Amino acid sequence: MEIQSVGVVGAGQMGNGIAHVFAVAGYDVLLTDVSRDSLDRALEIIEGNMGRQVARGKIAEADQAAALKRIKTTMTLTDLGQTDLIIEAATERETVKVAIFEDLVPHLRPETILTSNTSSISITRLASRTDRPEKFMGFHFMNPVPVMQLVELIRGIATDEETYQALHGVVEKLGKTSATAEDFPAFIVNRILMPMINEAVYTLYEGVGNVSSIDGAMKLGTNHPMGPLELADFIGLDTCLAIMNVLHDGLADTKYRPCPLLTKYVEAGWLGRKSERGFYDYRGDVPVPTR
Ligand code: NAD
Repeated sequence: MEIQSVGVVGAGQMGNGIAHVFAVAGYDVLLTDVSRDSLDRALEIIEGNMGRQVARGKIAEADQAAALKRIKTTMTLTDLGQTDLIIEAATERETVKVAIFEDLVPHLRPETILTSNTSSISITRLASRTDRPEKFMGFHFMNPVPVMQLVELIRGIATDEETYQALHGVVEKLGKTSATAEDFPAFIVNRILMPMINEAVYTLYEGVGNVSSIDGAMKLGTNHPMGPLELADFIGLDTCLAIMNVLHDGLADTKYRPCPLLTKYVEAGWLGRKSERGFYDYRGDVPVPTR
């Protein structure tokens, strides 16, 4: 089956990036969210980001206009039932994702492929809550989606070869590159990245360094373009904590225990860039370390 239309659930930073790249690649996109504000903001962000791509000569102005026309929004999840491919990119919480799939399944066409952009949650477990585990996969885009080249493809235990090949083809059509990971907590990228970020928070918590010295040391000492705390703010501290909890629960090893300071920031609602405060305060002209 040729995939022509895509339903994206969740219009946060990942959902809007996913809608953006699919529309530019010629797919019709239907984007949904429980929040009208998120949908309105997503359309503004997509237009701004495409505008930057036009300014840099990456896409033509006419392509931007055509891509924007391909993106429609709805507050009704079940409207996505008519699309060929669903990409769930809602909040990183298993109960939220399961409820979305359970609500959606009765409205899907039999051939529709279901995917989740989860950073860490078991694909096999999510798939088992649907009527089509063989047509279910992890489809893990990186942030920011229009810029990052990689997409992780994660097969659940029941995923069939046809579904895997279909998504492999979609990644190529997007002009991106896939890496295939087995379905274990946090897959490849976050299994390695998130313990490093969590360790950076422990380094801060134990007073080994402050925010500036930790990020400065890691940028200059390991040639990373962003420090780990800056990156955590960019990802979202709630998402970082959720991933650490999945690693801790799923692998039952204390080396994955989330740092209490990370928990404290999340409990304060200091979630990083998206809430304007995290390890840095973004409310002024330049980010200011909060420790
Ligand atoms: P976000 O907080 O920016 O956005 C989440 C969106 O989901 C919000 O707009 C929220 O209103 C919406 N939402 C919540 N419940 C919903 C529901 N029942 N139906 C529809 N929409 C709902 O989060 P994000 O950073 O975009 O992360 C989304 C997903 O992508 C998560 O699974 C996360 O693990 C994954 N992910 C995140 C990153 C990252 O760097 N942030 C990278 C790769 C993957």
